[in-house]
Amino acid sequence: MTRVFNFSPGPATLPEAVLRQAADEMLDWHGSGMSVMEMSHRGKEFIAIHAEAEQLARELLGIPQNYKVLFMQGGAIGENAIVPLNLIGRSAGSGQARGKADYVVTGDWSKKSAKEAAKYGTVNIAASGEAGKFMSIPKRADWKLDTGASYVHICSNETIGGVQFHSFPDVGNVPLVADMSSDIMSRPIDVNRFGLIYAGAQKNMGPSGVTLVVVRDDLLGHALPACPSAFDYKLQAESDSMFNTPPTYSIYIAGLVFKHMKQQGGLKAIEEHNRAKAKILYDYLDESKFFRNPVAKEDRSLMNVPFKLKDEALDDSFLRGAQARGMIQLKGHRSVGGMRASIYNAMPVEGVKALVAYMKDFEAQHA
Ligand code: PMP
Repeated sequence: MTRVFNFSPGPATLPEAVLRQAADEMLDWHGSGMSVMEMSHRGKEFIAIHAEAEQLARELLGIPQNYKVLFMQGGAIGENAIVPLNLIGRSAGSGQARGKADYVVTGDWSKKSAKEAAKYGTVNIAASGEAGKFMSIPKRADWKLDTGASYVHICSNETIGGVQFHSFPDVGNVPLVADMSSDIMSRPIDVNRFGLIYAGAQKNMGPSGVTLVVVRDDLLGHALPACPSAFDYKLQAESDSMFNTPPTYSIYIAGLVFKHMKQQGGLKAIEEHNRAKAKILYDYLDESKFFRNPVAKEDRSLMNVPFKLKDEALDDSFLRGAQARGMIQLKGHRSVGGMRASIYNAMPVEGVKALVAYMKDFEAQHA
């Protein structure tokens, strides 16, 4: 068996140790005589798996007791609707038909979030990096926030454009909501700074199918009447994410990934590893005369590194050569072209070194 270096933006590479453990436990989980996939979500085995996954997520992220941890379905695109369905009504005082929220647009994903939210309330684009082609994050001082907004939404890491918040904005008393799909658990964060965090699992946490939602208690109970019950945070919180059948297998794998992260030393150690990996790639991109990354240095993502070749006619040849060396999924998103290396937690430093070695060879051949 040979495993490739998989630079996919998601679903993405997972720790090999986790996959091996899942394979070992596939037919008979801990002597239960069942696969996790076959268990009742209300049986004692799965209740234990679920509780452990939640406990580990709490430990890793340092989630305070006044926040609920929910394992939801619908992915981050689902959350683009679920967040406003639950929160945007908070600001609607008597006589106000619609609630309102602030959105900071830093790339394709937050743009999509803002567009979806506008179905459920009034969306104010507090800042947008679009005029600069999303190559940097608009400075906090230039944001036009509305103190009456129900929440301020940001995307902590734009998976397509490769820009990332390296510190989080102060938005006063308005709850900060973050889509952390592509950088959750890649570094320590102070959860107290947020009202709500959501993230699809399929980059740093596990397989697709489960969305982690961390929500502060006071934000529960404000859902619009039209909010589907299965997407009502309060109902899900009251039933321990079991208002409907949860994505049991995805939660189980996420739990194994969390345990693996803890064994690696937690998020501080993981952040150091991620910084070291990204530095190898960015240092080379900055010295290369053939490849370049266009993002403002201070806003560059440690997770998704887009880059362009000097001559895009060579893109296909670059991708074929990478594939031949066991490196896959390097093609950039169709909206920006070029290449993108996604180097999430589970990408080993060897993968990044192999990529840079190949890029050097390619540059020497074609420069
Ligand atoms: N937000 C971000 C930052 C993402 O990277 C993605 C997926 N690439 C999404 C939202 C959408 O996630 P999903 O397809 O799981 O709904």
